Amino acid sequence: MNKQFYFTLLGLVFGMSTMVAQSGNQILDGIGETGMIARYIFNGDAKDWSRNNLHGRIYGPNAQFEDDEKFGKVLSLPGDDKTFVSIPGEAVEGEESLSITAWVNFNADQVGQTLFDFGKDDRTHFFVSPFGTKKKDRLQAQILQNGKEKYTAHANDITIETNQWIHLAVVLDIPSKTMGIFVDGKQVGQVESMEMELEELFTHENLLYIGRSITSNNPFLNAKIHDFRLYRIPLSEQQIGRIRYIALRGGEEAVRREKPEDNLPQFETNNPQLYNSYLAGVSDVQVETKVGNLPRLPRFVKGTYKSGVQGPEVRVLWPAPTDNADVQQPGTYEVIGKVAGTNFQPKAIITVKSGDDEATPHQTLEAFELADVTLDSDALGNQTKFIENRDKFINTLAETNPDAFLYMFRNAFGQPQPAGATPLGVWDSQETKLRGHATGHYLTAIAQAYASTGYDKNLQANFAKKMDYMVNTLYELSQLSGHANVAGGPYVSNPTEVPPGDGREGFDSDLSEGGIRTDYWNWGEGFVSAYPPDQFIMLEGGAKYGTQKTQIWAPYYTLHKILAGLMDIYEVTGNQKALDIAKGMGSWVHARLSQVPVDTLISMWNTYIAGEFGGMNEAMARLYRITNEHRYLEVAQLFDNIKVFFGDAEHSHGLAKNVDTFRGLHANQHIPQIMGALEIYRDSEIPEYFRVADNFWYKAKNDYMYSIGGVAGARNPTNAECFIGQPATLYENGFSAGGQNETCATYNMLKLTRNLFMFDQRTELMDYYERGLYNHILASVAEDSPANTYHVPLRPGSIKRFGNADMTGFTCCNGTALESSTKLQNSIYFESHDHKALYVNLFVPSTLQWKERNITVEQKTTFPKEDHTQLIIKGKGKFNLNVRVPQWATKGFYVKINGKEEKVLAQTGSYLTLSRNWKNGDTVDIKMPFQFHLDPVMDQQNIASLFYGPILLVAQEPEARNDWRKVTLDASDLGKTIQGNPEKLEFTIDGVVFKPFYETYGRHSVYLDVTLK
Ligand SMILES: [Zn+2]
Repeated sequence: MNKQFYFTLLGLVFGMSTMVAQSGNQILDGIGETGMIARYIFNGDAKDWSRNNLHGRIYGPNAQFEDDEKFGKVLSLPGDDKTFVSIPGEAVEGEESLSITAWVNFNADQVGQTLFDFGKDDRTHFFVSPFGTKKKDRLQAQILQNGKEKYTAHANDITIETNQWIHLAVVLDIPSKTMGIFVDGKQVGQVESMEMELEELFTHENLLYIGRSITSNNPFLNAKIHDFRLYRIPLSEQQIGRIRYIALRGGEEAVRREKPEDNLPQFETNNPQLYNSYLAGVSDVQVETKVGNLPRLPRFVKGTYKSGVQGPEVRVLWPAPTDNADVQQPGTYEVIGKVAGTNFQPKAIITVKSGDDEATPHQTLEAFELADVTLDSDALGNQTKFIENRDKFINTLAETNPDAFLYMFRNAFGQPQPAGATPLGVWDSQETKLRGHATGHYLTAIAQAYASTGYDKNLQANFAKKMDYMVNTLYELSQLSGHANVAGGPYVSNPTEVPPGDGREGFDSDLSEGGIRTDYWNWGEGFVSAYPPDQFIMLEGGAKYGTQKTQIWAPYYTLHKILAGLMDIYEVTGNQKALDIAKGMGSWVHARLSQVPVDTLISMWNTYIAGEFGGMNEAMARLYRITNEHRYLEVAQLFDNIKVFFGDAEHSHGLAKNVDTFRGLHANQHIPQIMGALEIYRDSEIPEYFRVADNFWYKAKNDYMYSIGGVAGARNPTNAECFIGQPATLYENGFSAGGQNETCATYNMLKLTRNLFMFDQRTELMDYYERGLYNHILASVAEDSPANTYHVPLRPGSIKRFGNADMTGFTCCNGTALESSTKLQNSIYFESHDHKALYVNLFVPSTLQWKERNITVEQKTTFPKEDHTQLIIKGKGKFNLNVRVPQWATKGFYVKINGKEEKVLAQTGSYLTLSRNWKNGDTVDIKMPFQFHLDPVMDQQNIASLFYGPILLVAQEPEARNDWRKVTLDASDLGKTIQGNPEKLEFTIDGVVFKPFYETYGRHSVYLDVTLK
């Protein structure tokens, strides 16, 4: 396949120059890779070409790979009752819908042959018979349950020809309750009103056969097969047609210009919705900016409403230029905004001033160490969701065997495995080019778990032992690199002189058991990874993302996790070896990247996934902060994503000048880079780095955020992990099929948010933090295990899918989940550098040991099951107690000190300062009445989420659905139409139950179609 083609296609279809930066496998035949489960091309083996590594296995003696005129090499199955292909049973586990497409060329029309047969056993399965079964002739797709035929999509009018290539597809579309069967791009059979969930058909150990039946005594397939694909999204006829069309033209034909299709309900664009239907006027705004910097336009402005309705501030949709041409000269100009569904045209009058840019803030706050804050039971003695989730992770982490996390490192260095060591699966398996990433998260998690388990000395000792063992082993391996393996033997110590593997022409990413190079003496001093140096070197040479030997995954992404984990261990325990490994590898990276031309760096860091480097810039800047060795700051800056940060090599615009340069890009590839920019600012105080982070955050939160706090999930471009193609168009371009809101992206957004707050105490930062923490991170963990979410789906009637319960196979999000749930207490309190102020950001039952002041602060509450909290001060002294007054606290914020009402002016969306000479035993009671409020999608206001205080309430759905649940609420007081029990956070609207998202495990609707009356 021609990768260049897809990237051109993307540019063509969406006409967005920023998208051109991201090429690679992300979109195949117009469908994002997040929709794909597996792909078997069968051109010489049964390997999965997708990133999921669900490699197939060929059984039987007579399978052959034959040359074919149309498709090159294809798999030929002889129909000998022995030969077939099996694919891993977990491939379909937990999926919501399923589509299967394949090219087949039948040698014989024998009745009873099976193209594929998938199911949990021989009584419950799903198969396609191209020439009919004994009972029913002709092509059909059949679902059997408990031995009984349940549904059959029958193509009565079609006779499948032999000895010619046919494109076959079957789609199980659960929300639409249909099963469709397609031949050569056309639908030829369908079942409607199908009442079933895929979990009735599949479990975690399924039989997935291509070319044979699960039940015995059916003939095996006698046919040639090419490009067998599994998708987790229900493909449309148009998409299936396109897959076929492109294949017939060798993958290179240009495709019609069209918007990606979708089945989201559409609404009239000139129909004012929700509060906008009561809108009487919208204010204009005046904004100042400095030459070169796009103004920061307020996303919400004052509105006036009719009919006595007290509406919220009005969401304005402003144009979003792709450069800073409008602000090159001093003067004034006007920008016209839109209000969704209305003809209002609010104006922003912008004054562009000359002179120096505004000064950027210094860091004035810092977080407490994890060990200083303990999570407590709530005021009624019950476990909180925080403790529940923490314990699921800590207890399972304690059971892990470090050798599993060291397996691929030892494998890369050709070292023997200790007895009992077994490799991890998923993205750390033998041939996966990202292997080692989970190890990095693991290092961080055990460091955090160690620091957080002061309440249990046994647990703490367990994690201490694990840390030592991990660091010692990694240290020993890193010391092998670039040194002779036998006395007097050859070696290459200079990282820039690493040769290709012995007997190879060039570098390759072969990690297979027989193919991986293990000549560590040639790898340069300091090198450490779970694979040889080739992927790093290939990236410099322009290698792209993919599963072939000539392709790579994301070498620096993985490295970032490992280095961050080592520094976390160093900072928690002072383990010098951990720091030495990080320094050695930091120097290796410095040696290589400092020789790479800037143009090459720009193109590397803008390569989709291959150039994803996590927070390497953050890790290197942090290493500089720890060691004071300047070269590490230099490396950090070599990771500048110049295009996104500064527009171009001349730094003419970019995020530093408030230009949105990240639209349509991969979210989790870029958020950590922004965090790196902030860390570089912290260590260098070069102002443009701060502006990059600050401008990014404001845009991400206001123009890309879903109600749970996630920021990824594009339908356009068709990739659930990307930012939408244009800002503030979540309904038009978001709500991707197959899930949105990659959980690791929210992990990173929270980290960025708290770090920004250390510089700039804007309440909206910690308001966002609270939203993402309660409604995404807490909501991402399974009910009774530490299994957790990758994407979190927000379409109507969705269901969360949890993975990695036993910590043996990690995706990116399974990795960050280890970190999130072992540091849940890390942002409840901050202090000022001078120890004169304490910040209370979150209302979580907990105890803070404020060592510098010899003060303990206890927070007693059942929040959010009640709307108040109590702080008890033990110890004494003068300090400012700053308490967050959340934006949602619109019904007042009441403070009592030692039982006596305080007259305070608490403004929502600010921090309230209580300045006092505190005495031992002082109590502060805070009441912040909750109320119901809606969070509408900016460009489609009737599609909204319901909140009670900070808590997202979601409709509990009985089954899958395609349309948004309709709800009518009272315009003057939403609460009038909602019944329920605030102490349980359980409510009903028209008989439908609403619960917090973090207590929802079944089907749910996060967004509703709301009418106000
Ligand atoms: Zn992820």
